[in-house]
Amino acid sequence: MTPDYTGNLEIECCPSPNHGERRSGRQVDMLLLHYTGMDSSDGALSWLCNPVSEVSAHYFVFEDGRIVQMVPEAKRAWHAGKSYWAGDPDINSCSIGIEIANPGHAGGSPDYPEPQMAAVIDLCQDILSRHQIPPCRVLGHSDVAPGRKQDPGETFDWARLAAADIGILPETSAEPGVASVKLGRGDTGPAVREMQEKLVKFGYRVGITGEVDTPTETVVRAFHMHYRQGMGDKPFDTLSMALLDRLMVLGG
Ligand SMILES: [Zn+2]
Repeated sequence: MTPDYTGNLEIECCPSPNHGERRSGRQVDMLLLHYTGMDSSDGALSWLCNPVSEVSAHYFVFEDGRIVQMVPEAKRAWHAGKSYWAGDPDINSCSIGIEIANPGHAGGSPDYPEPQMAAVIDLCQDILSRHQIPPCRVLGHSDVAPGRKQDPGETFDWARLAAADIGILPETSAEPGVASVKLGRGDTGPAVREMQEKLVKFGYRVGITGEVDTPTETVVRAFHMHYRQGMGDKPFDTLSMALLDRLMVLGG
């Protein structure tokens, strides 16, 4: 296997048999980031290359910044599982997946070390230079599989990526005079419907029920985990709405 990467870093190859053809001739137009969620990085890499696992990703980035390519970018790696974005249930066919070694929530959500972040940024920039991937389609696994997946999690520095032109993370402030919003569990009404419609328009899958039901809470948490870290399970508020509005403008 010849690495697809065209930058200045050394890339190792560890071919994984866990891949197929991109369906319906789909082109790459999404970059999806993951954490491995395992204590051992070496263990995670061998699992992703083991036919028994039936999972893989295109790339693996170790804590020390070493990058390994497992699946050629032209092929469909098996990293997203049951997932959805903007009407599309086959995320594997349109995306490039990067597994970032980190024990994740189960392992206490440690920070991503500096050499690893630098390597992730370099790799993402190289991928973005070779594929037509809109900034709003640089996403986390938690965005396309809310509730089922939480990676890459609250400690992943999306702001740093955005500053390096990888994805978007707008600065937000509430416009003066805008009606204040605070939508939590069980709330109902037009503002809830508006929030749900905007989340769907941006790409998330949620029912337009007009009520902050459990599926809506799950998607709001996923939205905050990526775009407004530190919110945890707090309600969707005026700033969240402003942020979502801004994202739709930038991503539209
Ligand atoms: Zn994942």
